[in-house]
Amino acid sequence: MTTEQLGIAQAPSDVHSYAKPAEAVARHLDLDIAVDFDKKVISGKASYQIENLAKGNQIIFDTRGLNIEQVYLGKEQTPTTFRLGDEKKFLGKPLIVDIKPETDYVTIQYSTTANADALQWLNPQQTAGKKHPFLFTQSQAILARTWIPIQDSPGIRITYSAKVQVPKELMAVMSAENPQQKNNTGSYTFEMRQAIPSYLMALSVGDMVFKPIGSQTGIYAEPATIDAAVYEFAEMDKMLVAAEKLYGKYRWDRYDLLVLPPSFPFGGMENPRLTFVTPTVLAKDRSLTSLIAHELAHSWSGNLVTNGTWDDFWLNEGFTVYFERRIMEEIYGKDYADMLNVLGYQDLEHTLEELGSNSDDTRLKLDLEGRDPDEGLTDIAYEKGNFFLQNIERAVGRERFDQFLNKYFQTFAFKSTNTDLFLDFLRTELIKGDEQLAEQINIEGWVYTPGLPDDHKKPTSSRFAQVAAAFNSWKSGKPANQLQTKDWSSHEWLHFIRLLPEQMSQQQMAELDKAFGFSNSGNSEVLAAWFIHTIRNNYTAADKALDKFLTSVGRRKFLVPLYKALITTPTGKKKAQEIYVRAKPNYHAVSTNTLDALLK
Ligand SMILES: [Zn+2]
Repeated sequence: MTTEQLGIAQAPSDVHSYAKPAEAVARHLDLDIAVDFDKKVISGKASYQIENLAKGNQIIFDTRGLNIEQVYLGKEQTPTTFRLGDEKKFLGKPLIVDIKPETDYVTIQYSTTANADALQWLNPQQTAGKKHPFLFTQSQAILARTWIPIQDSPGIRITYSAKVQVPKELMAVMSAENPQQKNNTGSYTFEMRQAIPSYLMALSVGDMVFKPIGSQTGIYAEPATIDAAVYEFAEMDKMLVAAEKLYGKYRWDRYDLLVLPPSFPFGGMENPRLTFVTPTVLAKDRSLTSLIAHELAHSWSGNLVTNGTWDDFWLNEGFTVYFERRIMEEIYGKDYADMLNVLGYQDLEHTLEELGSNSDDTRLKLDLEGRDPDEGLTDIAYEKGNFFLQNIERAVGRERFDQFLNKYFQTFAFKSTNTDLFLDFLRTELIKGDEQLAEQINIEGWVYTPGLPDDHKKPTSSRFAQVAAAFNSWKSGKPANQLQTKDWSSHEWLHFIRLLPEQMSQQQMAELDKAFGFSNSGNSEVLAAWFIHTIRNNYTAADKALDKFLTSVGRRKFLVPLYKALITTPTGKKKAQEIYVRAKPNYHAVSTNTLDALLK
């Protein structure tokens, strides 16, 4: 199918973008910017090759909190008129540029402001090395428009080139072909030849070095972090091999990781060719690397085949979780993947409970109109999406399902898709009129109905059965230090902590802490789960560790449940607010937007 059939003409309008791609659409971006750490401003030019499909007199870009200084038409840069429309919450303002029917090139001269939510400017103290400042972007879901004027919809794809000027002692990297060494001019150029949606525009600037893992893979990190990262992610080459074996060739040339300072709000962000990753997965024992499998899997589901709107987010994340677990099964075996599925199911149950299982937000196909998509995107897309795909796999068998997925990735490569297009593909390629199969797959129940279908299969794990046995013997009086916990991975520990009752005595808390050293764990997943119990049970011996965690880690997945647990009592709320004041400078806007609402 052609781009016109799939990507543009049939694309449903994106309620989170002002752009009208069926009329005038950007195809390629030439970015020429300078990064000023003193003023905390990015400024320069975003020049677009455009296609004026309707031969009309306007092209519309998305902006939020940008200064638009001047707009030019053509390579000869003739000034043109433009205006900014009314501001809407989350969406910002449309930039409406007057063009001519024959216009094919538009240059926007602009600068960012303090309201650029995509950008996090870190002072040297907030980095691992403590000597140089650091900058990174987070464009997903609709924050690209806060640092580049752009048609900011996942249904629109562009290729790009970029020229970025940074301070001489720093290096710049992007979601593109990257330098592997610092130069002495601070001027870097980039090329992204594969068309990507705007939310994958990414830039990071800092004191970083590169070390290879395999011939096609490697790691960027601050000098202070690089060796730990190289050890932790040594298996990324193996993951790439496993992923290609499952769903076909990796289409983005290199696959590198950038390990960011701890304030990064997410576990990872699948910026193409260069995944951005939190240092909270540096557990020293390679136990949290399923996150890398996840980000790598996005090179197929998400980056190659992209959700056309944020209402179709499950097409990015549900597929990626499914794919991530398949990669982990390939490398570590089925009993390992089973553990991840059970933990995922627990997360899903928790989300269903929080949202209410009748909530429309628990359907796979969402309706986020009028809301910030970043707030509407939950575990539903990830885990319910994954279990839907596992349900299809069970119904048709793994071999047939893998053939189907391979064909899906091929057919929709470098295109945007949506729920309807996927379901049509499912019906024509897999269900093929088989009514019994259609009933088993139950599209209506999974995609359009809140909650989980009654006949869904709950995942189980034999390794977790042993954890439950150990837990039960502790509950019936066996001392913690005599439990059989040898060889437990962080997943088993996480499961154990999740099994703990809500109410525990100080003595029980202290016994567990002494036997297993939870409060001093080097594993962020274990810490975050344990602190929920220390807060609930007012186990003050862990307060110092909790304080340190909240003031150094910016990952929203950890922060939100901990602050939520704290604010359930008046004393806890006071404590939460006091910590938040100190911690906030270390958090990205993606996290503070959520926490401001929670803590006010
Ligand atoms: Zn993801």
